[in-house]
Amino acid sequence: MDRAVTAADRPMRSGGADDGVRTDAGSAITAAGHGGEPRDRAPAGVSRREALRALAGVASLPAICAAFDADAAPLSYNLSPQPIGDGVWLIRGAQEPIDRQNGGAIANVVIFSSSEGAVVIDTGPSKRYGLELASAAERLTGQPVVRVYITHFHPDHVFGNQAFPAQSLAAPQGVVDGLESLGEDFAAAMYYTAGDWMRGTEVVRPTRIVTSGTEAFGGRRFNLLTLAGHTNSDLAVFEENSGILVAGDLAFLDRAPTTPHADLATWRTSLTSLSTIEHRLLVPGHGPAEDGRRAFVQTRDWLDVIEAKIRGAFDRGLSMTEAIGEPLPAWTEKVALARYEYERSVMHFYPKLEAGGWPRVDEKR
Ligand SMILES: [Zn+2]
Repeated sequence: MDRAVTAADRPMRSGGADDGVRTDAGSAITAAGHGGEPRDRAPAGVSRREALRALAGVASLPAICAAFDADAAPLSYNLSPQPIGDGVWLIRGAQEPIDRQNGGAIANVVIFSSSEGAVVIDTGPSKRYGLELASAAERLTGQPVVRVYITHFHPDHVFGNQAFPAQSLAAPQGVVDGLESLGEDFAAAMYYTAGDWMRGTEVVRPTRIVTSGTEAFGGRRFNLLTLAGHTNSDLAVFEENSGILVAGDLAFLDRAPTTPHADLATWRTSLTSLSTIEHRLLVPGHGPAEDGRRAFVQTRDWLDVIEAKIRGAFDRGLSMTEAIGEPLPAWTEKVALARYEYERSVMHFYPKLEAGGWPRVDEKR
């Protein structure tokens, strides 16, 4: 019963029953910018959002409790770290939008051993996830987590922060600033979309500010690259001794990239920088780890497709609804959530086009 109160309470506070959560700039934040929006375009049946809205209108607590109890999820993430190098493990995120089944565990998380303690890159979507991650890292490495690098401020990557010592949490200043301004809205949206998995989760900002350069400790050499484009502050981490490059959400593979805070030109520049690194294994923010650079190529191709599609539709005078209906290239059919993320990108970028705020690459700089 009480878990339903938590899940139902947060979105009401934020007014989140409209369209996820909106910034004052008018761009839909949504939980995660990763499909955190309620699945309101499901082809059949009544969506959760509609159901919740109806329940909110009735304002009947017993009814809300009953609805959420019926939707109760087994509350363990059952993390399954897979070895990807000597003393390095990957916990894969589901190639899905955030929902009440996956509890927001959609992003990749990496664990490194070091002689000074475990190192984690990103902390997952909730306090619960963070606690499970911390114990998995300690079990695998035999030591507690001493350093956590956060790749960007989206909640599927950062809301497990509570489980780690404050002084261990490291990120570029832009990540901290993003959490400062958007974190509470993200929290509201996450409670709304992931429900009870989020119980007890609070926004915790990293206190250790990092810049580009190498942090060497415990037999590891973490080459930190402060970039941007997926958001206004993206951290990629290349651990030189293992040859593992953790790209955060600058790279997606076999899962369509998300764009709620993206600057596409800057994103392309970052992909070009990352492509010069001689890595052994590339870990994207979402999707499988692979050698080679397929994630960089596919991410760039996707950005090219959506920019051309959206700008082309706008230039032809299509409405936003018509733009959403545009066909996508055949190759995107094998990319998870391609149609879903394309539609969301139209919703992110069309208002900017209409406001004249999405300059052409060739007119920029
Ligand atoms: Zn992500």
